[in-house]
Formats: sequence, structure tokens, C-alpha cells
Amino acid sequence: MSTDLAWRESALCAQTDPEAHFPEAGNSSRNAKKTCGACEVRPECLAYALSSGQRYGVWGGLGQQELRRAARRTAA
Ligand code: SF4
Repeated sequence: MSTDLAWRESALCAQTDPEAHFPEAGNSSRNAKKTCGACEVRPECLAYALSSGQRYGVWGGLGQQELRRAARRTAA
């Protein structure tokens, strides 16, 4: 697992609404994903989420189910 977390300094979600990236059950993650779409460190964020086993919230533009699917593909 990479320990280089310098990308977090450029995380767009930290400058907008971090809580939007952890929507409660039933709430939309669309706004969070929209923020990710404009984030310059999206690849680093997604790589971190997959390598560290993040399964909750929106990371790198992927929601929870998408993260889990991506993790299964990565492990295969
Ligand atoms: S890709 Fe999304 S979750 Fe990751 S740092 Fe950027 S805005 Fe935040």
C-alpha cells in the first residue's frame, strides 16, 4: 500500500463538501461524483481507495457498489 498521501492536499472534496462523499443510505451520491469528475487527483484517490480497502463513501468518482466491483476486478 502506498503511503504517499500528498495527493490529499489537492483533494477537491476537502475544499467543497467532504460529507457529500459519505451520503446516508438512500441519498444520492451524484453531487459527490460530480466533484470527483473535476478533481485533479482522481486517479491517485481511486488507487488509494482500492489499495487500502475503502468500501464506504465515494472515492475517485466511484460509489460503494462500484468500488466493491472494482476491488473484485483488481483482485482477480
Ligand atoms: S476524486 Fe473525489 S473523493 Fe477523491 S479526492 Fe477527488 S473529489 Fe475527493
